[in-house]
Amino acid sequence: MGLSPWRMIGIGGTNTRIGGRMILTNRCSRAIGAIALLFLLLTGAEANARGAKVTAEPIPDAVWAYMQGRSWRAELRCPGRDQLILLRVPYLDFDGNTQTGALIVASSAAKAVAAAFQDIYDSGKFRIYRMSLIDEFGGDDARSMAANNTSAFNCRTTDRGAMSRHAYGMAVDINPVQNPYREGQLTEPEAGRAYDEPSKRRRDIVGMIVDGDVVTRAFARQGWRWGGHWKRSVDYQHFSNDGH
Ligand SMILES: [Zn+2]
Repeated sequence: MGLSPWRMIGIGGTNTRIGGRMILTNRCSRAIGAIALLFLLLTGAEANARGAKVTAEPIPDAVWAYMQGRSWRAELRCPGRDQLILLRVPYLDFDGNTQTGALIVASSAAKAVAAAFQDIYDSGKFRIYRMSLIDEFGGDDARSMAANNTSAFNCRTTDRGAMSRHAYGMAVDINPVQNPYREGQLTEPEAGRAYDEPSKRRRDIVGMIVDGDVVTRAFARQGWRWGGHWKRSVDYQHFSNDGH
């Protein structure tokens, strides 16, 4: 209370350690700094502080360069760099350890997504397997899902050729294996078949999202809607600002 989530995110002001790295004057040191930053963002870093907060920052040069031809595709009408934002997100991994993941979302969605993941982390009740930029999987959604990776921005089309809400940074996928996408006989990822029907979904399975839990409530508070409520197909991993 009192402090708005957006203030708690502290855009531009909180990542002094990384910022310090990036302004090294020596070109070689700068390159090393950029690589270190990428490594940190792609692999996730173990955070050691309880009470960790989601932070936000503009897309760093090294990350923007890495996104080209991966999550950002010149052939599609993708959002510009200044319309996207990088969130660094504390989460509990499947062993219960705090990690820091990376998510890229629309600037206009950053406040809502940051608040939702802050609520999830603060609850201590939900675990996330992995949260790396989808660029580590070449921007390939199937590979990211198979790796049980939680992700957001990916400028891609849907199976029907329309722009995905992920293409605008307006959707998040969480633990795709425990929360698969299903349409008819199709389940993605394949490992999600164990969890792709209502009868297979239980609150006590680690990483599973169920109606009314901390995850669905955190996103509902932001006005975001859950793909677990879809009728024709169902997308248990998916939250978006407009329900698509
Ligand atoms: Zn999705």
